[in-house]
Order: sequence, then C-alpha cells, then structure tokens
Amino acid sequence: MESYLAELNDAQRAPVLQKDGAMIVIAGAGSGKTRVLTYRIAYLMSKGVDPFNILALTFTNKAAREMKKRIASIVGNSEAKNLWMGTFHSIFAKMLRFEADKLGYPSNFTIYDTQDSQRLISAIIKEMALDKDVYKYKQVYSRISSYKNSLITVKAYFANPELMEADAMSKKPRLGEIYKNYVDRCFKAGAMDFDDLLLKTNELLNRFPDVLHKYQNRFRYILVDEYQDTNHSQYLIVKALSDKFQNICVVGDDAQSIYAFRGANINNILNFQKDYENVQMYRLEQNYRSTRNIVNAANSIIEKNKTKLDKVVWTANDDGTKIVVNRLLNDGEEGRFVASSIFENKMQNQLNNGDFAILYRTNAQSRAMEDALRKREIPYRIYGGLSFYQRKEIKDVLSYLRLLVNPNDEEALKRVINYPARGIGQTTIDKLTILANQYGRSIFEVIENIDQLNIKINSGTRNKLSNFVNMIKSFTILNENADAFTVADTVARKTGLIQELKKDGTPEGVARIENIEELMNGIKDFVEGQKELADATGSLTEFLEDVALATDMDKDTGDDDRVALMTIHLAKGLEFPFVYIVGMEEDLFPSAMSMNTRSELEEERRLFYVALTRAEKQAYLTYTQSRYRWGKLIDAEPSRFIEEIESQFLDYMVPQDDYKYKPLIDTDIFGEVDKSSLRQTKPRSGSPPPAHKPSEEQLRKLRKLRPATSVPTNISHTDGIKLEEGNEVEHIRFGKGVVLKIDGVGQDKKAEIDFQNGGIKKLLLRFAKLKLL
Ligand code: ATP
Ligand code: MG
Repeated sequence: MESYLAELNDAQRAPVLQKDGAMIVIAGAGSGKTRVLTYRIAYLMSKGVDPFNILALTFTNKAAREMKKRIASIVGNSEAKNLWMGTFHSIFAKMLRFEADKLGYPSNFTIYDTQDSQRLISAIIKEMALDKDVYKYKQVYSRISSYKNSLITVKAYFANPELMEADAMSKKPRLGEIYKNYVDRCFKAGAMDFDDLLLKTNELLNRFPDVLHKYQNRFRYILVDEYQDTNHSQYLIVKALSDKFQNICVVGDDAQSIYAFRGANINNILNFQKDYENVQMYRLEQNYRSTRNIVNAANSIIEKNKTKLDKVVWTANDDGTKIVVNRLLNDGEEGRFVASSIFENKMQNQLNNGDFAILYRTNAQSRAMEDALRKREIPYRIYGGLSFYQRKEIKDVLSYLRLLVNPNDEEALKRVINYPARGIGQTTIDKLTILANQYGRSIFEVIENIDQLNIKINSGTRNKLSNFVNMIKSFTILNENADAFTVADTVARKTGLIQELKKDGTPEGVARIENIEELMNGIKDFVEGQKELADATGSLTEFLEDVALATDMDKDTGDDDRVALMTIHLAKGLEFPFVYIVGMEEDLFPSAMSMNTRSELEEERRLFYVALTRAEKQAYLTYTQSRYRWGKLIDAEPSRFIEEIESQFLDYMVPQDDYKYKPLIDTDIFGEVDKSSLRQTKPRSGSPPPAHKPSEEQLRKLRKLRPATSVPTNISHTDGIKLEEGNEVEHIRFGKGVVLKIDGVGQDKKAEIDFQNGGIKKLLLRFAKLKLL
C-alpha cells in the first residue's frame, strides 16, 4: 500500500480507493471529508489519471490552493498545479471565458462584484423614476439574485404569472422590468455578475451539446466538497458535467448546511442517490479534530434538530476541558474578557495568535472585539469585512484596468470618467447614459461617435471626453504587448491617480498610496505565478478575474501570526485550537430574523454546530446582560443554545443560579410541537414556568416579523384556561381557530387546532398563548 494511504482510517480509505462510479460521503464535522477528497485526487493521479481530467469544487479558493499543495506533496508531482480546482465561481468563470462568444459575450467580459451590481440597479431604479424607499436596491438585487440561482431568466419570469403577482403583492410590480433592464445593461456592458457565472454556465451546457460533450469528456472525475451548501444552479452544472462518466464524488454534512438563505438546497444531498446509478454511500464516524467534550457537546446540540440524517460522531481524542461559559455586563466587557483570556492562554500554553479564533453571528460584533484586542496589543485579522479590493483607491485603479480591457464596462467607466477630476460633470454623464440606452450602445461607444450624434454638449467638454477615450485606448494598445504589472503601473501614474493622492498629504492619503503599492506588488506576484501554469498567461484579464472572485479568505497567506475574527458562516471547513463564540444571546444567536419557522431555527442551530465544531482543544461561549441593538440598550438573555448543551460538558464561570430566568414567548410558533427542538428551559424544582405575558416590546417585535397577521394584544398563556374540543380560540400568530382534539396531561397537554391562517397545528398548552373566544 502506498504510504499516504496509511494516513487514512479504513472508512476514509474506502471512498479513496473506489476509483470509478458515483459516491457520496456523508459525515459529521472533523471526520476527514476534506481529507478524503484530497487523498482521492492524489490516488487518482497515482493511478495515471491526468490532472486535466479532474475537476474539484471547493468552498474557497484558499482551500483549493492548500489541497493542491498537499496533493503535490503526496504524489510528488508538479502537475498538481494543473488541476482544475477552486470555487464554482472561479472555475466556471474560466470556462465561460473560453466559450464566451457562443453566448454573445466578449472573452474579456468583466465580472461585476456586488457593489457594481447594486450601483447599476440603483441607477436603473432612478432612471425608471421609481420610489427608492419601495424599491430598495439591495432588496431588488437579492431578489434578482435568487431568480438567477433558481434559473428563472427574464423570459421565464414574464412567463410566470405567480412570480409577477408575488412581486406585485410585495408592492414591487415593476421588479420584472428592473430585472430586464439590469440584464440588458449587463449584457451591453459585456459584464456578468456573480450569479451569471452559474446561470450562463447552465445556459452554455444546455444550449450547446458540443460544448457539454467537450467538458464532459474533459472532466472525467469530479469532486465536490461541502456539497450540502450547493444551490440549484450549481447542482445542475455538476449533474450535467458528470452525466456521461458518472465518476463523481461528493462529500458533505447535512448538519452543516448553513446557506439556505442564499438558496442552498439540502435536497441536493438527500437526493444524490436518486440522481446517479449505483451510488455508493460512505459514512465516516471518527472525529479527529476536537476533544471528546467538544464532540459530545456538539452532538447534544444537533440532536435537537428534527430534520437531519442520523449520524454517529465519536472521537478517540482526550476528554479535554469543558466548554467555558461566561456572562459579561456588556460588549465592552465581553471584548476585554476574550482578549485577556487569549492573552493568558498564550502565556500559559506557549501558543501563537493564529491558534485563536473569535466567531460571531453578525459582522457588527467585531468592533468591540477589535477594540479590546488593540488595547492588549494582540494582532488580529478580520475576515469578510470590506475586502482589500473594495477599498476606494484600489477599486479606482481596478476600474481603469477593467475599462482598458473592456471599454463597454459601464460601472468602471462611471467610476473613473471624472476621477481624478477632469471637468466632466454629472449632467454630461447623464446625457451620455440616456443616449447610450437609446441606441443600445455603451457610453464609451457613444463618446467615440459623439460628433455624429445629436447631443447638446459644448466643444470644451467634447474635447475632455475625447481625451479620456484616447487615454484609455492607449492603455489598451499597451496591454497588447506589456504584462499586467507594466500596464497597471502605467495606469496608476498616467491617469493622475497617484498625484491626486499625493496632493492629499494626510495620513489617510499616504495609507492609500501604500495600498496601491500593495496592489502593484500583488499584480507582480500574480504575473510570476501564472507564468508557471500551463493554461494561463499572466494577462490582465486573468488578474482581474482573480480579483473579482477573491474572497477575503483567499488573500490570507498565513505567514503572519494573527487572531482570526470572522462570522460563523465564513468559518465553515476551518479549524482552530481555541475558539471563542461571542454574543450567545437570544435574538442575536439565534437571530431574531430567523425564528419564524422551525426550519429557520434549525438552520441557526446548525450554524451553532458549525461554530462549536471548529474548536480543537477548547471552546468558550460568552453572552452579555445588555447590548446595544438598533441604537437602544436592551436586556439580553442567554441563547437557548447554551442551555441545549448537556450541562456535563459546560463549565460556568458565573453561578448558574444567577441566570436570569425568562420563559420564552416564542416557543409555540413552530407549528407542530416537538419538545426536543423547543427551548429547553432549566427545570426549577419540577415546577412549570410561571405564566408569562409578552411585554409590549416583544409583541412589537412579533408584529414586525409577521405583518400579515393581526395581533391581538390581550393574549396570555393558556395556563388556567379550561380548554375543550369545539372551543373557538385566537392565537397570536395563527389567528382564529377551532379546537379539534385535546390529549396528554399536565405539562404534556396538547391541543390540535384548526387555524384560519395556519391550518391544523398541534400546540403544547403549557407554552401556547391562546385566547378563548
Ligand atoms: P468539516 O466538516 O469541518 O469540513 P471534515 O470532515 O472535512 O470537517 P477534515 O478537515 O478533513 O474534516 O479533517 C479534520 C481534521 O482531522 C484535520 O486536521 C485532518 O487533518 C485531521 N484528520 C482527518 N483524518 C485523519 C486521520 N485519519 N488521521 C489523522 N488526522 C486526520
Ligand atoms: Mg471539510
């Protein structure tokens, strides 16, 4: 047996050694799924499979790079760098470049990032003279995004009255028109947004059988990590490409599906066996990452979810220390606790900063952590904030580069046509935009042909416009022979960008120049790196694509030693010896926005499972007693998730009795009753929780979340009401209903009620807040 195969256990080795066929590995966190994918690729190559025939799809490009390195070290083969390995977006952007002409796109198409897309949508809303408070551009963007990810094109949208009606009902009857305009404008600009990269790949594979066959033959072996978080569009691409050879290996964990809000579809994992012939299913059960306490605590949480595949996760690792729970006064104290705990742990155990991660539910929580870490002089790095490439000065340089590669790129043009200032005012730009829309041409083309067009622009401005166009054209010519670095360097100087920042003279201005220098270094590295690759050239187009698809995670070279700060969503797949999960409070985690239905709450719980299972040695959970939310100081309550962990795995730094005890009012909103998935309240000498009337604030929140239902305010717990079959009742969320059946006794007494708004529900009377009518 090859020696590297000995680095796998029997269960892991089986899917690695099965060279052909369809297989799925379903297993809990830390059980070696990603390791299986890595070793499987190494094994395929050792059996003579050409890396050109292997396609591996990962959650981040950084993960792909690390896997490539590991593979190269195993097979000792420099060919590993020719593997097609990366995120869905980066892999299929590459494929689309080769095939762009078939879809009517230039091969140097621009990739619009979220900011570009949102700016364009915002401009369209303005041009259509719509109310921007009704048509909020971010909402419109995410709606269009979800259409694209469900493969609902503009044509499909207008063929579907239900969709149009739904948008009309949400007071946005003209959403379809915005969608159409947006798509037209992107096309005209030679630009694809993130969702297009998947949508257009689907279109390409569907419409052009020869292209499909070409890539089916190329990608004979396909592997997908984190399969539980693929969306419909991604699913279809994988399905199409693997259909011929059916050599497909997907790995995932349904318990870690945390992107449903972005369209991830857990059914992709559940239905895998139906999609392919002779699917082999593998399970891994041994966790290598975490201590037994962490593994068992995580198991005790995920058990509370109803929708899940049954899985066993155990570990041969030591028990380790218990999970530390601490309550702090406010977020400032929370930050100070975390910072000093990191400090002490480092001192006691001779650790590096990189051994620590602070995870939170929302980005806003990072500020208090940063403040505290800075005071302690502990270096840290925030992932997922404003990425380097989105900083203004960087985006300005990049916009020039984008424009010289693709002059039709309107978002780039609008950004730089008058920056640095060259006397081209907004009125002129508006006139040009209107004309461009009229002629179905880009603004750049309009300027090129300005003398033939009937447009009221004075000769002075015309000169400025033509100077601008000529400057861009000269860059384009330079780009034909020079490498990306030379072009970028020329652009930064010739456009006056650097001079503009130098004039500034403030420390911020200096920092901006340094950032541009860093960008230039990055381009140089990139050019050098690409030259080594067989199917890359180090061109500006390649660099811009890399930048557009870089997640913040990808920039991390790992060579500086810092504490990592990130949202739990970003932490998927990663591991750290010490993990602090902060803000463990009701309404924050689980998020108030995600408590409307059982499935939303279960997704929050999976998120907590992901968070906890990142920890190798030690996990900390912290919550505060009060926290500023929406500008108001509110009383915070410990997250139900803390209480859901079996207490034998917890170590409370504050006496447990100190817990503020508040029965939750929301416990009956999940439709059916399943006590195991409801909040597990702490038993108090066996007595039921006291009857509790929701406060005005809680009611206001409920109303806000569920605007469709009328909310009676005089509702209290059903405790004390003698409820009988046939009674008419009113419920805070489901409205009026008739009691069909009552069963159970005491604490377990339930009523089956037929509600006008919600159909038939079973409610636990102990929690349900019903009013007898
Ligand atoms: P996640 O669900 O979080 O993505 P995973 O199932 O992908 O986790 P890996 O990241 O592949 O798990 O493995 C978890 C850790 O355990 C890694 O540090 C990995 O190197 C280690 N590991 C996995 N299998 C073995 C093994 N057989 N022997 C030693 N270490 C292992
Ligand atoms: Mg993994």
